[in-house]
Amino acid sequence: MGVERTLAIIKPDAVAKNAVGAILKAIQDSGLRVIGLKMIQLTEQQARGFYAVHKARPFYGDLVRFMTSGPVVVAALEGEGAIARWRDLMGPTDATKAPKGTIRGDFGSDVERNASHGSDAPETARVELAYFFNAAEIQAPVEALP
Ligand code: UDP
Ligand code: MG
Repeated sequence: MGVERTLAIIKPDAVAKNAVGAILKAIQDSGLRVIGLKMIQLTEQQARGFYAVHKARPFYGDLVRFMTSGPVVVAALEGEGAIARWRDLMGPTDATKAPKGTIRGDFGSDVERNASHGSDAPETARVELAYFFNAAEIQAPVEALP
């Protein structure tokens, strides 16, 4: 599998709950590295574009409203098998079904307000990371430092 990069988003519900620090701590305690980080307010265009794959779904409009309802924190994560590890740590999409000890179980509320996003495959991770970060905003691998 090797070292992977993935995109994490701490969604507006979790930011409003003051859970940014707790979620970043859980990520780091799991051994994943934070290699890029910023807090941003998504525009409607950005949210619609990010979730374009879901545009035909009945929840799309509400999802875009939710994702633009307040600031989010976007993070680039790196580690061995990072894509699956971050999704495992988040728990299932529906926060009401997510176990305690997962991000969605601990900080989410329901199937929409589920505290976090994680890329689901290498190609989506690449596209989603590029959606929010340029090359200068992502930390170089440790072995590449002078
Ligand atoms: N979502 C929703 N209703 C649903 C399914 C999903 O509001 O029935 C929202 C939820 O915030 C979810 C996002 O849409 O995280 C993207 O859905 P996806 O199926 O890709 O779930 P994820 O990959 O985030 O687990
Ligand atoms: Mg998804």
